[in-house]
Amino acid sequence: MGLLGTAERPLRVAIIGSGPSGFYAADALFKKLPHCTVDMFESLPTPFGLARSGVAPDHENIREITKYFEKVARSERYAFFGNVALGYQISVAVLKKYYDAIIFACGTPVGKNLGIPGEDLPGSYSAATFVGWYNGHPAHAHFPFDLSHETAVVIGVGNVALDIARILTKPVDELKHTDISQHALDVLAASKIKDVYIIGRRGPVQAKFKENEIKELGKITDCACVIKPQDLELNTASEKELEEPSAQRIMTILRELSARPADSIQKRRIHLRFLLSPVRIEGMSHVESILLEQNILVGEPFKQKAKGSGEIVEIPCGAVFSSIGYRANPIPGVPFNHKLGIIANTEGRVVDENGVVPGLYTVGWIKRGPRGLIGSNKPCSAETVQKLLEDLPTLPPCEIPSMDEVKNMLIRRGVRSISYEEWLKIDALERERGKQLDKPRERFTQVSQMLEALGDIKACIQQPDTL
Ligand code: NAP
Repeated sequence: MGLLGTAERPLRVAIIGSGPSGFYAADALFKKLPHCTVDMFESLPTPFGLARSGVAPDHENIREITKYFEKVARSERYAFFGNVALGYQISVAVLKKYYDAIIFACGTPVGKNLGIPGEDLPGSYSAATFVGWYNGHPAHAHFPFDLSHETAVVIGVGNVALDIARILTKPVDELKHTDISQHALDVLAASKIKDVYIIGRRGPVQAKFKENEIKELGKITDCACVIKPQDLELNTASEKELEEPSAQRIMTILRELSARPADSIQKRRIHLRFLLSPVRIEGMSHVESILLEQNILVGEPFKQKAKGSGEIVEIPCGAVFSSIGYRANPIPGVPFNHKLGIIANTEGRVVDENGVVPGLYTVGWIKRGPRGLIGSNKPCSAETVQKLLEDLPTLPPCEIPSMDEVKNMLIRRGVRSISYEEWLKIDALERERGKQLDKPRERFTQVSQMLEALGDIKACIQQPDTL
């Protein structure tokens, strides 16, 4: 021990997940420790996680961050192992043999459930699926969204809910030159949706969306943003919460939107409604309506909770999108905090009932929960890397610190991993496909298509992991 991170014995780190937090962690390691290499594992053949498949297609500027991650990936100390699924093709126990430290950056890919009757009816969707669908994520791209009804309801008032409402209401002519997937564009072009309700369980001051995103909602072509003045009436505790400048600015925007004269020639309408909690989704064989309970707010300023008043409101609708946050998938062999839905950790060090688990770390949403913008991951990853560096003198070195041996091990297991160079080929082909449609990119939506595009038509042989 004690030699790790030196010229004689560079530190070998595996990062699991290639989204923003994983790349920020690699970047921090490269900057802080000259003698270390990073192998990044990703279950898809494509890197960048949410920056590729979570950012809305009309937010091109946010997706630009991938250019920064591309620079990180150009380091000769970086290697990408795409198409390698942790927990299925390879286990944490196996990885520990090849790496001195493992950083879990797998995010929180699962949409939280509402937990109400009727949630499983056709027409009731998770935000995670819808967002993955319009961004061509292989797990979601083929989901049969039915937009043949006139009214949709989105539960939750975070930025994801606003993304969904915007994509549902924006004219397709304004989306067709973005990198939205063509299958989604075709369904949106035929959509019958006219009214989208966005439902907050608490009041406007407690809404989670940000200023730019709510402003944007008021600017959608041919779409009115409808807010009832009574929904903007505040109790004393909420007035106190307005001391926060961002809440104050958001309230001003909401009041402006609410005061706009009704325009009957608008093709579509977004209705922002507050103090309503979903109680039940109704329908025989498909969503037909949602029942919501009117709430009041109780509690101290900044800690107010929604309390049901017993009064029920019904909104007839053909689609319900639950956009109430995300949770992580537990990783076999890694302590998990089931209550919070994240890896059990202290400042990025993985912990179990005996304390810190040597060599295991975590960053991003699977470390702190699904909160914050892409840039929030930078300090989060830096904190974890700092802890890893502090642990270096006592970190037990792995048995086989060799990338060639990792490659051999994957071949032995029949895993067809994708290198960064191969990703660059996929990237170039997607851009080429996009050019033909006058878009920046048209994504492959199946892993087999990507392998085929690389000239490898053999399907990836998936082998359960053995230790
Ligand atoms: P979020 O910001 O946490 O919002 C979740 C919403 O769901 C809140 O309004 C929450 O209300 C509500 N909610 C939670 N449980 C509920 C329940 N059981 N019933 C009814 N409502 C419920 O989550 P998000 O929208 O998924 O966004 C995740 C993160 O990604 C955020 O930090 C967001 O800013 C970021 N993001 C950013 C962008 C962008 O930069 N443009 C785009 C998308 C996402 P309470 O407040 O009452 O809990």
